Amino acid sequence: MSRIIEELESGLGSSKVSIDGEVIDRYTAKWWPYMLLLKRIGAETPRAQAIVFPESSEDVSYIVKTANRYRACLIPFGGGSSVTGAILPRGNCIIVSLERMNRVLEINDEDLYVLVESGVVIADLERRLSEKGYSLRYFPQSYHLATVGGSISSMGTGSHSTGYGGIEDLVLNLELVSPLGDVFWVRGVLAPRSSMGPDLKRLYIGAEGRFGIVTKAVLKIFHTPPYSMSGGFEVRDLETGVKAVRKLISKGITPALARVSDPVESRLRFGVDGSIILLSFEGYDEDVVELLWRKAKNSIEGEGGRFLGDEPYRRWIESRYRYEEEIRMLDESNMWFETFDISATWSRISTAYRSVMKGLEDLGSDIVVAFAHASHFYHNGAALYFTVVFKKDPDLYWRIVETVMDKALESGASLSHHHGVGVMRSRWLDMDPGGTPRKILDMIKRALDPSNIINPYAWSGFE
Ligand SMILES: Cc1cc2nc3c(=O)[nH]c(=O)nc-3n(C[C@H](O)[C@H](O)[C@H](O)COP(=O)(O)OP(=O)(O)OC[C@H]3O[C@@H](n4cnc5c(N)ncnc54)[C@H](O)[C@@H]3O)c2cc1C
Repeated sequence: MSRIIEELESGLGSSKVSIDGEVIDRYTAKWWPYMLLLKRIGAETPRAQAIVFPESSEDVSYIVKTANRYRACLIPFGGGSSVTGAILPRGNCIIVSLERMNRVLEINDEDLYVLVESGVVIADLERRLSEKGYSLRYFPQSYHLATVGGSISSMGTGSHSTGYGGIEDLVLNLELVSPLGDVFWVRGVLAPRSSMGPDLKRLYIGAEGRFGIVTKAVLKIFHTPPYSMSGGFEVRDLETGVKAVRKLISKGITPALARVSDPVESRLRFGVDGSIILLSFEGYDEDVVELLWRKAKNSIEGEGGRFLGDEPYRRWIESRYRYEEEIRMLDESNMWFETFDISATWSRISTAYRSVMKGLEDLGSDIVVAFAHASHFYHNGAALYFTVVFKKDPDLYWRIVETVMDKALESGASLSHHHGVGVMRSRWLDMDPGGTPRKILDMIKRALDPSNIINPYAWSGFE
């Protein structure tokens, strides 16, 4: 056993440290499709030397201070649902699993916030909130996997982001352990807004743990909306659907959820030939919800959309968390998959969609199928989410990643809307038109974490 592990065991207690190979395996890049693919074909995958399970911010501080003395690498770990290798360890790394720090500490009815430890899983938090009539309205597809800390650190988003925003819009305050081991809150008190200096919490949202470990968070909560109206429409193609949703948003008819599938996704998921638009409106006054729904319906029908009732929406809601079943089916047929989440302004969406799809088509018959949808709509654009199914082959995997990244870049899109950089997209970090320049990020990293202790391999390549 290495000296650092001995020291961690004596400082934390042995129940908070594991060097068991089977346990370590379970925490090794659980959901990055490339790592899963390597595991499936029996190739070796990187692993950590140990896992620690802190139970308090003080435990995390102790771990970070100890790692600094030994120059050991730490990988903050929430639910492990990163799909970009952001939690990929190397041999000298110690995984810091926040799973035991999962308490809901306060639900404040007057100021409408919840204070939690960062390791709480989103679905568990939502269950606790719903008992009191509240909700985060944050529903990523990884709802049952992702934690609050991981969502903040990856800058996650969920299906209802068009109405409520991404995780960045929910975070009111953060407690962090700095890469030197100091425990601090980014804000002293809660204020609805403060211009007393820059809003530091933004530095940690999407930092993938590299600037510090989130130990607690204060998040906005909403009364669960009692009324909703949802349904599906069929239009000619993805661009027509995006244009129709853009028109709604430009008029302030903003749905909680909007999603436009391209014709291939529409055929596979909904059994229709055109493009499916899903819309959901919700709120606290039945008349207001009905009025918005009616206006949206008229507007989409005015664009040539055919109303299909609420069946497509219900079908999507019922199937959205069935990813394990779909992966198993692909695996059994010797196929594999990857997904790509890019974002583009209105003027670039069509080019980005067409050019990524053409690039994939040019890769030939080893691509079994590729399809996309637009979701997460903003004032000035939306996200495009591609799913690619291909022959199980690690070399082909990287040809697909390179094709999608290059085509998206050429069309002026940002290369990640919510999955983050991780290891997978590190090569493109400096080229991304939507991201912060690597030079600035490296300067901040050096200032905060001079020994490069925390998650040093995210944003660097995988070899
Ligand atoms: C089936 C599936 C569906 C998905 N759907 C969505 C989706 O709809 N929307 C979406 O946004 N993402 C989605 N993802 C991606 C993933 O779930 C998100 O990135 C999620 O936010 C990660 O949360 P986590 O707790 O699992 O973090 P992890 O995977 O454990 O970690 C992610 C990153 O955050 C860091 N980190 C974790 N906890 C902390 C902490 N407390 N402090 C500092 N750094 C920390 C890690 O070091 C790593 O860099 C999906 C993934 C899967 C597998």
